[in-house]
Amino acid sequence: MEQLQTVKKFFRWYYFNNSEKIKAPESTESREFGYRDFNGNMVRHLSFKSEGEYRAFLVKTVPKSVYYSVAFYIDPTAPMESKGWIKADLVFDIDIKDVSEKIKENSFWICKKCHSFGRLPAPKVCPNCGSEVEEVEWVCDECLNEVKGAALDLLNILTEDFGLSKKEISIYFSGNNGYHFYVYNEEMRKMGQQERMEIVDYITMKGFDSSVYSKNIPENGFMINRKRVPVDPNVTVDIKRVFRAPDSLHDESGLAKKEVDSLESFDPLDKAVVLPEEPVEVLMYYMPSIRFKGETFGPYKQEKVKVPAYVAVYAVLKGLAEFTENRSG
Ligand SMILES: [Zn+2]
Repeated sequence: MEQLQTVKKFFRWYYFNNSEKIKAPESTESREFGYRDFNGNMVRHLSFKSEGEYRAFLVKTVPKSVYYSVAFYIDPTAPMESKGWIKADLVFDIDIKDVSEKIKENSFWICKKCHSFGRLPAPKVCPNCGSEVEEVEWVCDECLNEVKGAALDLLNILTEDFGLSKKEISIYFSGNNGYHFYVYNEEMRKMGQQERMEIVDYITMKGFDSSVYSKNIPENGFMINRKRVPVDPNVTVDIKRVFRAPDSLHDESGLAKKEVDSLESFDPLDKAVVLPEEPVEVLMYYMPSIRFKGETFGPYKQEKVKVPAYVAVYAVLKGLAEFTENRSG
């Protein structure tokens, strides 16, 4: 708990110093907002009348994570069944674990109590002390490039196959291990779940057996060069979902959900790093090496180190470290 209060101190710093840059969604007043607090409680069915009101909420509340609906409602604060759904942004979520084999090699388990660790697959309980273990996904440049490649493929499908213009599409680094796409197209915003499912099936090439296909269809056949992009169907089809808010901090990393200007040159471990540089001492139980802002940190094993606050928060939120002093005050 105390550890999370220190994380909250850094989150407060971010929201206090950046609230003027945080954009509220189009038609703020028609969206449902929700957030998770630092005690783990989820609050939903909130609404804000303006960008100013939303920013004031972020600074005052300092949420652990904050979300708003892809949907536009007549009454966003009403119970789900009587909100009055008008339309919803078409969204896609690409997660690194669905794209990259490499991330499975890098990932590991760590014991919540004695901090023993090892390669996946994780044991049911810690072989050293019998306590609960946690799986940690660990990114590297290679797997981040793989997921970026999938995002480029999705952008191509949306522009070439669906004929969308790049102006109708916003791309964000999710703040942890993936990319979020928003399509702002009025016709598509009116689509229901069934039509969105069909779009997902097309993108994921569901029901499309590539082994049979390559044997039976000539090289110049339809769609031969098309790539399958493993978007999460649940995210796209759920037209009442609350989706992580752009520019907000991710509760599992302390990185920001950041808009991508150009996918090719976007470096999430640089652009999404928004917490202070200020050195903070942590006890690292175990942290494989990682590169932030061009500088490599780790590997660390059972050692006290002073690292920039953004590295410390990242490690603490992944369950790999603890702050050595109570800095929540
Ligand atoms: Zn253990």
